[in-house]
Amino acid sequence: MKEIDLIPSTLKEAVEKLAELPGYGEKSARRFAVNLLDMPRGEALQIIKILFNMLDKIHPCSECGIYTENDICSVCSSDDRNRSVICVVEETFDAFAIERTGKFNGLYHVIGGRLSPLEGITADDLNIESLIKRVENHNVKEIILATNPTVEGEATASYIHNLLKDKNILISRIAYGLPFGAVLENADDFTLSKALEHKTLI
Ligand code: ZN
Repeated sequence: MKEIDLIPSTLKEAVEKLAELPGYGEKSARRFAVNLLDMPRGEALQIIKILFNMLDKIHPCSECGIYTENDICSVCSSDDRNRSVICVVEETFDAFAIERTGKFNGLYHVIGGRLSPLEGITADDLNIESLIKRVENHNVKEIILATNPTVEGEATASYIHNLLKDKNILISRIAYGLPFGAVLENADDFTLSKALEHKTLI
């Protein structure tokens, strides 16, 4: 019996394209496409319109790489920020998270990911060269490496540290430790040993 391919070609195309998104895969892509099709058409089109609008208006800040609707983001264009300190993060939302704490008054630099040999992401794929240029051309005195505390985030921080260590600036790494509300006996050995290593005086 001749096998019938029931999947409409436009649906197939949508699933294939969505599955290319990092962290998606075919299953999530299929769910996304079918959820859209299952929705009232007006709502689904509204989602597409919002996404279109976002793509039309948002681009990386030409100085720090944070996604913004302006040429220069509101952090880079502010007169109230300490321009001698740059906090290096993997993604825009990491910068937003740090900003929410209200504890950082410097500038950001979004490198756009992390070194990952497994995914084929090398230093050339990240905004590292522009960071070095910022350090060289502006009066930067301190760099805080706030890449994620993962194997890749660590490797990325150490790579950037090596590039900057001879530039006569302060370089620090965000502290590791236990999340607030954690129970010691449930913490993994790595987190607990890092928390001890990076203990602070009170
Ligand atoms: Zn900016």
